[in-house]
Amino acid sequence: MTMPRAPGFKESPYWWEAAEPPARAATLPERTEVAIVGGGYAGLSAALTLRRLGHQATVIDAERIGWGASSRNGGMVSGGLKVASDALSNQHGKDRARALAEAAAASFPFIEELIAREGIDCDYVRCGRFLPAWTPRHYAAMEAKAPAIAEVTGLPTRMLPRARQREELGSDHYHGGMVAEATGSIHPGKYARGLAAAAEAAGAVLVDATRIETIARHGDGFRLRTANGEIAADQVLMATNGYSLGPGGASPMKWLAQRLVPLGSYIIATEPLGRERVRALFPNLRMIADTKRVLNYFRPSPDGERVLWGGRASFSAQTAAEAAPTLYATMTEVFPELRGVAVTHAWTGNVAFTFDLLPHIGVHDGVHYAAGCQGSGVAMASWLGHNAALMIAGAANQSFALANLPFPTMPLYSGKPWFLPVVGGYYRLRDRIDRAAA
Ligand SMILES: Cc1cc2nc3c(=O)[nH]c(=O)nc-3n(C[C@H](O)[C@H](O)[C@H](O)COP(=O)(O)OP(=O)(O)OC[C@H]3O[C@@H](n4cnc5c(N)ncnc54)[C@H](O)[C@@H]3O)c2cc1C
Repeated sequence: MTMPRAPGFKESPYWWEAAEPPARAATLPERTEVAIVGGGYAGLSAALTLRRLGHQATVIDAERIGWGASSRNGGMVSGGLKVASDALSNQHGKDRARALAEAAAASFPFIEELIAREGIDCDYVRCGRFLPAWTPRHYAAMEAKAPAIAEVTGLPTRMLPRARQREELGSDHYHGGMVAEATGSIHPGKYARGLAAAAEAAGAVLVDATRIETIARHGDGFRLRTANGEIAADQVLMATNGYSLGPGGASPMKWLAQRLVPLGSYIIATEPLGRERVRALFPNLRMIADTKRVLNYFRPSPDGERVLWGGRASFSAQTAAEAAPTLYATMTEVFPELRGVAVTHAWTGNVAFTFDLLPHIGVHDGVHYAAGCQGSGVAMASWLGHNAALMIAGAANQSFALANLPFPTMPLYSGKPWFLPVVGGYYRLRDRIDRAAA
């Protein structure tokens, strides 16, 4: 199936039509109490919390504040970590796994409260999520986990067998699924813009177009070097996530880059289809993420007029325009009635996985970090940034289960994941085998 491009097709986020990250000055102050490297949700949320606690905070982005994953994502808001997963229990033991799941799940009420408190206009709706099962086995596994997810998130889950799937999804492609109420939807570009405005209004300094090249100890603090000059800081927070390796593979904190696996995620937006047509596909306007290893995630646009379809279309360095036809083919397999619909936007951004599949905050050689949201960081990155700020300010009054965990790497890994095409290909094959055996 060829993918028709709408006139004026753009290789940039649909979100940027309403909320492209605005340009700010590249003026670096001489010094600050806390220098935050990376102006996504993690860095901005940290800055906001630091300001509320009375500390100076300067957020510095190599591109524009909000330019990274934070203005490109699917806008699905949930607790981030696959709460109540067996793998977590096997690896950490039941009690520790429970503490990790609770720490992750707390990101959901946190972001809801943050959006309401700061009055951030980002089309937030607590719409819930439907997770359609790729195979009957996936359905059974979700059914077994559903009560634990409800317990950890404090919000209901419910199974919908295949015969009733059309109550949630206008497709027969899957084997039933689970509805989880602990999910909302946002316009990610508006959230990034609103969070930046809130941090700025609270007194944080936001600096664009300034790549931190090196971080060196200087007296009791640090000096951060850039092509625009230097900034002195008492403390530093690295919030660079999937962009921790810059052009040429350079990173101001190699240790962090060696612990993160950057991976491209891709999205396409259809032309406006009309609300009725979209509602026929998403009867309750929920967020959708299927259970494939190489997952598809899709949703109606906040105005209910379009379908936004996302996935890991490519594990090699493909552009968004190159990867778009793969997404289109999958979308029209799930929703055959969309064949022939034109695509207006295709874009990509980097997420960051970790080798233990956990998000991390902590300190290495005196430099703080907050990273590794495993592709699910709208709530989680905001939450990690907030907790990192509490740690920096010495204001954390209870231990946060995701803080200061051992942070594994792999021998000889420099931050460039040469193995992704192989691993991705294997996962794709496993998806096909699972389905064939279903
Ligand atoms: C296509 C896509 C879809 C996604 N969908 C979802 C979803 O539906 N739900 C969900 O929960 N999560 C989703 N995510 C993940 C989520 O967007 C991220 O986890 C989250 O935005 C990470 O925020 P961050 O602040 O850690 O990093 P980012 O927003 O990526 O910000 C990092 C910033 O660091 C800057 N930087 C890097 N190096 C330097 C340097 N040396 N000096 C200065 N600045 C530097 C970069 O320019 C960048 O702006 C998606 C991500 C993508 C890409």
